[in-house]
Amino acid sequence: MKTADEIIKTLTLEEKAALLSGKDFWHTVGYEDKGVAEMMMSDGPHGLRKQADAGDNLGVNDSIEAVCFPSAAGTAASFDRELLFKMGETLGEECRAENVAVLLGPAVNMKRSPLCGRNFEYFSEDPYLAGELAASYINGVQSKGVGTSIKHFAVNSQEKHRMTVSSEVDERTLREIYLPAFETAVKKAQPATVMCAYNKVNGTYCSENSYLLNDILRKEWGFKGFVVSDWGAVNDRVKGVQAGNDLEMPSSFGITTKKLIAAVKEGRLDESFIDTACRRIIDAAQELNHKDSGGYIFDREADHKKAVDIAAQTMVLLKNNGILPLKKGAKVAFVGEYAKTPRYQGGGSSHINAHKITGALEAAGDSVTYSEGFAKKDSELDAKKAAQAIELAKQSDVVVIFAGLSDSIESEGFDRKNMDLPPCQNELIQKIAQVNPNVVVVLQNGSPVKMPWLDSAAAVLESYLGGEGMGEAQVSLLFGERNPCAKLAETFPLSEDDIPCKGNFPGGTNTVEYREGIFIGYRYYDTAKKDVLFPFGYGLSYTTFEYSDISVSPKSSDGKTDITVSMKVKNTGDVDGAEIVQLYVSKQSSEIIRAEQELKGFEKVYLKAGEEKELSFTLNPRAFSFYDVYKKDWSIEGGEYLIKIGASSRDIRLIDTVSLDGEEINVPYTKDEMRAYYEADVSNISDRQFELLLGRRIAPADKKIDKLTVDNTFEDSQTTKWGGRIVKLIKFFMSRTDGGMGNSEMMVAATLETPLRTTIAMSQGIMSERMAELLVNVLNGEKTGSSTLKLIGEAIKIPFRGK
Ligand code: BGC
Repeated sequence: MKTADEIIKTLTLEEKAALLSGKDFWHTVGYEDKGVAEMMMSDGPHGLRKQADAGDNLGVNDSIEAVCFPSAAGTAASFDRELLFKMGETLGEECRAENVAVLLGPAVNMKRSPLCGRNFEYFSEDPYLAGELAASYINGVQSKGVGTSIKHFAVNSQEKHRMTVSSEVDERTLREIYLPAFETAVKKAQPATVMCAYNKVNGTYCSENSYLLNDILRKEWGFKGFVVSDWGAVNDRVKGVQAGNDLEMPSSFGITTKKLIAAVKEGRLDESFIDTACRRIIDAAQELNHKDSGGYIFDREADHKKAVDIAAQTMVLLKNNGILPLKKGAKVAFVGEYAKTPRYQGGGSSHINAHKITGALEAAGDSVTYSEGFAKKDSELDAKKAAQAIELAKQSDVVVIFAGLSDSIESEGFDRKNMDLPPCQNELIQKIAQVNPNVVVVLQNGSPVKMPWLDSAAAVLESYLGGEGMGEAQVSLLFGERNPCAKLAETFPLSEDDIPCKGNFPGGTNTVEYREGIFIGYRYYDTAKKDVLFPFGYGLSYTTFEYSDISVSPKSSDGKTDITVSMKVKNTGDVDGAEIVQLYVSKQSSEIIRAEQELKGFEKVYLKAGEEKELSFTLNPRAFSFYDVYKKDWSIEGGEYLIKIGASSRDIRLIDTVSLDGEEINVPYTKDEMRAYYEADVSNISDRQFELLLGRRIAPADKKIDKLTVDNTFEDSQTTKWGGRIVKLIKFFMSRTDGGMGNSEMMVAATLETPLRTTIAMSQGIMSERMAELLVNVLNGEKTGSSTLKLIGEAIKIPFRGK
């Protein structure tokens, strides 16, 4: 086989430039005669969304029948590296069988706010946990010769304005919170590709951000694969190639290819940049394009069983007064449409055409009775349905209410407005609890909800979006065939008012300020000593565990060697079960702004009733380091550190200490100037304090638009004569279509918030640059004519079309 370099020598500039943009929506370009194979990419992350015909990035068009595994919010709650590896292996085998070269996942963006519409697809609010699990998933998939694409690099923690907004984040927060999950995955698993995000970071689009793609990803972390743009994330392609964004997806239908060729010919782009990108893509194609399926078959039935098994390990028991597991012979009623047809996955690009879905009602069979109580789409209580459910509740020993969020409340494409369940669900749970004290609530949602009825519920099981095996898994846990063993990978705050980025989420049309800095999730709640509904790392089991015998070795170090922590954990109940033991590192007095504690280790251990095991954790120097913005490197502050072993971030069972020699600490501000940060008083951070953290002036929150360009969106144009009319039309028509997914809000947001340049890219050749220019002229009030309306009509439809 020829090397990539040898092949590149045989390619013309035109061929090379064309290789840097997709062939269509899902394939890369191939030159079979020259030894360059095509690659097919498919979403991802929790199942295979292989689209044979019409391609789109919103889950609107059909894909092949595939197995839907639990989404990342759930798999993260397993805290189980092996489980993620095995799920990855299965997905890798499915890809091989279907000739898919790259699976688009995992997605590791930080859960900055529980309101981010796409949280269901992300692992955690903690970068260490997300990085460890992502690395395992990638190693699993890639062990089968299939590539992965870790996404969305970087700082893409909201859906609002995701294609244009700039995430304004200080360097330390970037390094300690928003990048480490990618860093760990790159260092431990070398994903074949990294997908750069739509948004800007500190003013520069991720797709042309040389600091992120070249300096950090490649030079610092040693990433060897190629960078692919998120679908439609390319802004200025020439800048992008210079910045290390090798592949643009989907195809630009020759538009950007011409731009690259012209830039080389005019001396604005050195051809070596094109060669480098080609080399990376060809290397990957040689490795990932297989001549055959390697003997793998997509056994949907077998993989469904795996999906059930995984789902049972991702559901978190949040409350239990002893009612669970349900007793044999008890009269059990199921209530809520979610019992019949579960919400088992989220909306958008990860949407799987699931092979078979078993609801809890079907899985439970004759052992339960059922009353709908409320439908999934209901907001207000339907008196008749409610009365029937209450009547059934009176005649039952236990009532299991299946509550949840619908696709229209939570999805890719837009963020949630609040943390509420639909009012009818809250109301019915309360009403049923008044007639029957044995109410078990089973939740189906992608991110935290408020539980105003918590005191009246006897038990609560958070089952997240558990994939197609969700119903079977729920029943096995409710009836005690299996023991719950997951814990929350995110904090459930009491209310949206407590979210640390409240006030700075989702930001303006130009920027979103990450003003809270490092204080996300439990780092904030634990430091500010805020009450929460359920803390990070929390989850119950049908058995109990006792922790003992912590030992730290060595007890003091120069800060350059690893520290070993060991402890014992015992199953003290009478059923077998698994415990997730967490290790937090904490420094009580510090010169720098610090969180109360940070997760630096976790282990999941299976213990038979009465069994005891010793666990050991290794802490490398990085576990004690902070990012020193002066040194531009990791640094250790000398002194005593607490090593805390806990069952959750709020249930620390064992504590020991270690003393480390440190380095000179550089702090670019005084404690007095930055008091709000030192006290984690996140809602009182002044502009001046944020600027000190950023090391520069704050950029305007909203766009200032003198003249619209292709980088603008229909939403940006709404103050103009034609723009105003178009926006009204979009809202009118798009709110009446749901893309087949019960999701008109996603359609409205995608149409309003997509820049016209992306519309060109997504149109797959339907919209030319000339058309886009005309449209911009119309919006700027410079041109109107008979074809105007037709043009606008076509443009509006494009984000969903594809070919
Ligand atoms: C999503 C990606 C996805 C891609 C292709 C984008 O809209 O952000 O996560 O992989 O579409 O469907």
